[in-house]
Amino acid sequence: MSDDLDDFRSRAKAFLAENGHRMTSEEGEGALFDTDNIEWQRDLQAKIFDAGFAGITWPKAYGGQGLTDAHQLVWNEESAPYKMPAIFGIGFGMAGPTIVDLGTEEQKQRYIPKLLRGEEIWCQLFSEPGAGSDVAGLSTKAERDGDEWVVNGQKVWTSGAHRADLGILIARTDPSVPKHNGITMFVVSMRSPGLTIRPLKQATGEAPFNEEFFDNVRIPGDSVVGEVNAGWAAAVLMLRHERISIGTNAKQPSRPLSYASIKDLAAKLGRTDDPLVRDRLAYLYATDTGQVLLAQRMRQEVDAGFELRARGSIPKLAGSMMARIAVDVVDEVAGYEVAAWEGTEWPSITYGVVRSAAFGIEGGSNEIQRGIIGERVLGLAKDPQLDREIPFQDLRKIPPARTASK
Ligand SMILES: Cc1cc2nc3c(=O)[nH]c(=O)nc-3n(C[C@H](O)[C@H](O)[C@H](O)COP(=O)(O)OP(=O)(O)OC[C@H]3O[C@@H](n4cnc5c(N)ncnc54)[C@H](O)[C@@H]3O)c2cc1C
Repeated sequence: MSDDLDDFRSRAKAFLAENGHRMTSEEGEGALFDTDNIEWQRDLQAKIFDAGFAGITWPKAYGGQGLTDAHQLVWNEESAPYKMPAIFGIGFGMAGPTIVDLGTEEQKQRYIPKLLRGEEIWCQLFSEPGAGSDVAGLSTKAERDGDEWVVNGQKVWTSGAHRADLGILIARTDPSVPKHNGITMFVVSMRSPGLTIRPLKQATGEAPFNEEFFDNVRIPGDSVVGEVNAGWAAAVLMLRHERISIGTNAKQPSRPLSYASIKDLAAKLGRTDDPLVRDRLAYLYATDTGQVLLAQRMRQEVDAGFELRARGSIPKLAGSMMARIAVDVVDEVAGYEVAAWEGTEWPSITYGVVRSAAFGIEGGSNEIQRGIIGERVLGLAKDPQLDREIPFQDLRKIPPARTASK
């Protein structure tokens, strides 16, 4: 096995040296949905697939390599300094694993090889203007019409929808039952007639996410993922894949808010002799290293076949807390030097600082992760859920909650 791993490492090194782009600290991870280089990302993913490095632990039957977690770790280590295709993140981290877990054989054959080859980009159509943390309260509806489903409603904050070929959609298919019971998961073509995608600009100046309007969008009957009206369990599974993916992805040493990037910034600003800055950097080193090790350990558990279940929220929460700590240290080290966005000398770090707030919201907010860890990992008392048994269609008839004093 170790010979095999050595051989795999040599092949990975040779492939990356020939085809990869080694990142400078100024480049960092860059924007997840870099709008200028989609073709470059598709191209590199196809090369990664052809060279046998795509879907390393995924089943061979669907285009994966069927190799071990040790091979995956070798690839993660070797590829960490290189700029990798990020546009397929939702496909690899969430949509693909959910289809492998719940899809029909036809769905797996149809979608997984194209995902691994970089031919199809995926997005996740969960959040709505009235349903974010409480995504089970969604009101986009899908109604059966012969062999098809007809979808009407609105989704929001959909990362990469404007670049996606396919989306995983959850919609209400039975409003006569309590909200968690009447939801179904579908695959939808992002080019469907009646689907309008509008960009939303975020604080960094980019528009990486979108809002979508479904106006009588027709979906074929065989697009249901899992069972009709069992979409909540499918959504929970996909959210777990999402949190594990966000929390345990390989941490690039040169990412904008890493210890290495911030130490580099301090050195360039001549601040590394300041005892206060040294103290803050040491603290950052300890927390950054702790978070990287936690992510690695959780990834190893996943690769070894252990189910993280609700524990997937721990590295997700740790990652966003780490980003908060890093922003405080950047403030200590550089202050106003990184406060300005336009014309900054430190574009990568400034980008990281401006975007950092999103870490505590995307994939479920920090408060929601704390709730999950409290209830399902630590076994603390559950939050009261007054709407759990009431049919969705009757929810709006409940009078507003009264305060205890009334
Ligand atoms: C960068 C980014 C990318 C995203 N990409 C996608 C995507 O691709 N697809 C998608 O479907 N969605 C996406 N989202 C949306 C994201 O999942 C939601 O924003 C998130 O779930 C929070 O929902 P909300 O914005 O409606 O806030 P709300 O649910 O309205 O929450 C507002 C505040 O109330 C708090 N809160 C709510 N309920 C509770 C509770 N029970 N206990 C304690 N506090 C609570 C929250 O923590 C938060 O601070 C993305 C968001 C971001 C920031």
